[in-house]
Amino acid sequence: MARYTCANCRLCRREGQKLFLKGDRCYSAKCALERKNYAPGQHGQMRKKNSEYGLQLREKQKAKRFYGIQETQFRNMYEEAARAKGITGENLLIALERRLDNVVYRLGFAASRKEARQLVVHGHFTLNGKKVNSPAIQIKSGDVVAVKQKSQSSPKFKEIKEMQITVPAWMTVDVDKLEGKIVSLPTRAEIDTPIAEHLIVELYSK
Ligand code: SF4
Repeated sequence: MARYTCANCRLCRREGQKLFLKGDRCYSAKCALERKNYAPGQHGQMRKKNSEYGLQLREKQKAKRFYGIQETQFRNMYEEAARAKGITGENLLIALERRLDNVVYRLGFAASRKEARQLVVHGHFTLNGKKVNSPAIQIKSGDVVAVKQKSQSSPKFKEIKEMQITVPAWMTVDVDKLEGKIVSLPTRAEIDTPIAEHLIVELYSK
């Protein structure tokens, strides 16, 4: 699958917002957005007037970049959200949160969603006791996500055992066991990603 390989920080600068794509660096003074808070490229510092379409497009791009998803997959998730009962924009955001790579990130087992995706693809996690390697799996209420027994001795995960981890209300974590449980599916109010999902719905509804 194609994946965007240019510098992650350029994506944040393009959106004018921290997307937290590089782990600890994002919380430090080294964050590129702290130093260059304007869009990348030759005309990055020019003031731009955004049209309605421009705002909708930017919001969609921002959501894709936050969760590290390519256009086709994102569009498919939108179509599914539109077919499901309830509010399409909320359904979409909840589906994005339910992705396994996002859950691994939210559990504090990875510094960024990108790292979480890599760890999942490399087979370091189990879901309800079974090894998994697909970051796109949709987590359900009651699911248990854990670091594979064999991987628990790696320096990366040993370090996590020493950390204080705070997780969203819809999950619990046992840091000693490197295991997390989904207590319930997230509600819109429990998702803190700064995305105005109605703009994405407006864009795709055209
Ligand atoms: Fe974005 Fe993190 Fe880079 Fe800052 S350090 S620009 S938040 S990816």
